[in-house]
Amino acid sequence: MLVCSTCARAFSATEPRWQCNCGGYLLLNSPAMFRREDLAQRPGGVWRYCEALGIQDPANIISLGEGATPLLDVPFDGCFTSLKLDYLCPTGSYKDRGSSVMLSKLKEWRITEIIEDSSGNAGASIAAYAAFAGIRANIYIPESTSPGKAAQIQLYGANLIKIPGTRENTAQAARQAASDIFYASHNWSPYFLVGMKTAAYELAEQYFWEPPDWILTPAGGGSLLVGLHFGFTDLLNAGFIQKMPRLAAVQSASCDPIYRAWKTGSMDVSETEKKPTAAEGISVAKPVRGATILKAIRESRGVVVTVNDDAVWNTVEKLGKHGVYVEPTAAAAPAGLTRLREAGVIECGDRVAIMLTGSGLKATDKVVEHFAANGAGRA
Ligand SMILES: [Zn+2]
Repeated sequence: MLVCSTCARAFSATEPRWQCNCGGYLLLNSPAMFRREDLAQRPGGVWRYCEALGIQDPANIISLGEGATPLLDVPFDGCFTSLKLDYLCPTGSYKDRGSSVMLSKLKEWRITEIIEDSSGNAGASIAAYAAFAGIRANIYIPESTSPGKAAQIQLYGANLIKIPGTRENTAQAARQAASDIFYASHNWSPYFLVGMKTAAYELAEQYFWEPPDWILTPAGGGSLLVGLHFGFTDLLNAGFIQKMPRLAAVQSASCDPIYRAWKTGSMDVSETEKKPTAAEGISVAKPVRGATILKAIRESRGVVVTVNDDAVWNTVEKLGKHGVYVEPTAAAAPAGLTRLREAGVIECGDRVAIMLTGSGLKATDKVVEHFAANGAGRA
């Protein structure tokens, strides 16, 4: 069943739908779960957990080989830290987990054309999976999106529409256009979130069913954070793990609505003003799933922390010294870890995993600009 997050109305999952009649966003409520003993015979990746992913007929699965990303141990800031290299997914970002499940469901629903709006990575990911599925994709992006990300979307054959103004103007334009075409938004689709749960399942396996004390993620729209919470909740309910890891959300100091809501004890996230930031992927003035994001943080006894652009760039360079090349948005999470360790919230001996969400190759233009302005190799 698809259940409304606002009024709790339930809808059958066999009918295409992205929103409740009341305007609320939908969540998939399904008790189905994979069995631990079946995993040994299955290949790595998102679909080894197929029972939990809400697809009725496996013939509809749209997969480019996403998931099964490595967990790399490094001495980050001198403390043992595990990096989950989710930027190694097929389009260079973790969004592929969500796109694979969402596009599979769209195929199951016999949808032939979709609209999505994105600041870049989700648009590229959905364009790739739509291409593979033979579904026509119209991707709306802000005019300010990195040229590299825009080119990637076009290369997958999507119809690219650039919208002047803010990220919010882009979302508005996409929703207007979606009156005749199905709105397959990563910020609204319950199946996109379902795909994110696989990051939790994978981490649990990589930690031999004893999850780390902390998991850090960058947070803008919050899909990864919420997906991790849902995924670990599934594992707790199934008795596969005994403890929920604490989830730390990292936001840019230039756009921090989740931080503000968490700090003031609000139940939902209000729109905030935002300034330009190197962490463009998490520059979201008002996330759609605000209440669910706050619940994930609070139920996991997590925290929210903000980082400025200097810290983000320093961390991009610091990770480079470990052989890891990520885009600035992804570097926000380890930059947040440095802050939380300095503040004594996370201790050096705590077991910590960081989700690294987007490849540095996505942001070559920004990295070139950064080095031109600051000189290479300072860190
Ligand atoms: Zn509703």
